[in-house]
Amino acid sequence: MAKKANSSNHCSFCGRSEQEVNLLISGVTGYICDMCTEQAHEIVNDSFKSSGKSDVGITLSTLPKPTQIKDFLDQYIIKQDSAKKFLSVAVYNHYKRILQKNAKDEVEIEKSNIIMVGATGTGKTLLARTIAKMLQVPFTIVDATVLTEAGYVGEDIESILTRLLQVADYDVNAAERGIVFIDEIDKIARKSDNPSITRDVSGEGVQQGLLKLLEGSIVNVPPQGGRKHPEQRMIAVNTKNILFICGGAFDGIEKKIAHRLNSHVVGFAASQEKAIIDRDNMLKYITPLDLKSFGLIPEIIGRLPVLTYLEPLDRDSLLRILVEPKNSIIKQYQKLFSMDGVTLTFDQSTYEFIVDKAIEFKLGARGLRSIVEAIMIDAMFSLPSGDKKKLHVTRKYAVEQLENSDIHHLRVA
Ligand code: ADP
Repeated sequence: MAKKANSSNHCSFCGRSEQEVNLLISGVTGYICDMCTEQAHEIVNDSFKSSGKSDVGITLSTLPKPTQIKDFLDQYIIKQDSAKKFLSVAVYNHYKRILQKNAKDEVEIEKSNIIMVGATGTGKTLLARTIAKMLQVPFTIVDATVLTEAGYVGEDIESILTRLLQVADYDVNAAERGIVFIDEIDKIARKSDNPSITRDVSGEGVQQGLLKLLEGSIVNVPPQGGRKHPEQRMIAVNTKNILFICGGAFDGIEKKIAHRLNSHVVGFAASQEKAIIDRDNMLKYITPLDLKSFGLIPEIIGRLPVLTYLEPLDRDSLLRILVEPKNSIIKQYQKLFSMDGVTLTFDQSTYEFIVDKAIEFKLGARGLRSIVEAIMIDAMFSLPSGDKKKLHVTRKYAVEQLENSDIHHLRVA
């Protein structure tokens, strides 16, 4: 291991003596000074870049292909094929763009930030998180509702990058290739389709602020975030290669889509076209125009060129979510029990009961875990100290457990 050198030694690279440098590190047969280590680091980065390797370990040959990305997503996320396909392609293109060998190429690939529209609890965050997990890049989730224009109460837009820096352990290079998921982007829509006359602190102003992050610019980021440490040194972060994925429920946008569809199709052709419109899944017809009528400013829409939607999750999808994904809720509980040497099994009718309760409580996929937790709590409490090696959860047992629990407070009115 390298250790600090004694005085009167010289850097084997630049020849400076220990007195002339801040730090001289000794190796097996020589020394290196702090300045040369920095220079070496730069050379390594440059050579990685020119050889098509990024310093976060992605190379064109190791970059997963869109079909591989989708296969990976399929292991964790049920349904949402359209969103998976759009995301896989956008992410693939994004990292291809970063790896683009010659930045002076005439054809410069533009950034492909993504916007996903879909009801809450349908898997938007899960999709973004799973992609980041696959690529092993820094990933953070921010809630657009807490963002306000600089100078107002709330978080500055720059705080988004503070979080990314923090998860990247302040490795600016890694953060600059990370993924940011901006949740609830619909909550910063302006209140009407017309530009506001009065100031709209949390709406249009925030959208304007987001623009510069999305399009790619150098932003001075407070490393500790917030305004509590005004004296802190800023870190310059270039957002050019950060992939932004935005998500939102856009409540009520279906009406705008329906309105647009109705006003566009008139006459004989219209009656035929209307017949094939899938009324239960209007989001599949979403276009940037609908985002605009919802209140996103055209500039933001332009910076989010990949638009995709998530389907509502029906009973069958919820059943699959419960058991199928690689780390499904049921598999997680089975794992927990197996660590105490207990084999955990369920009746199919128990799964159906859990799903029906999630639907009844209007909790969707998010509610599945709380319901299973309520059913399993007594067993998780007593089994580890007993000698039972098997637990089979029947529907009857699940019903009783749930009735005895406080789960009813979860019910959404
Ligand atoms: P959203 O971001 O759309 O509001 P999330 O991705 O946070 O929803 O989903 C909440 C939870 O519900 C996830 O952590 C996951 O357990 C489950 N879930 C939602 N949709 C799916 C899906 N399509 N496949 C698997 N699990 C899902």
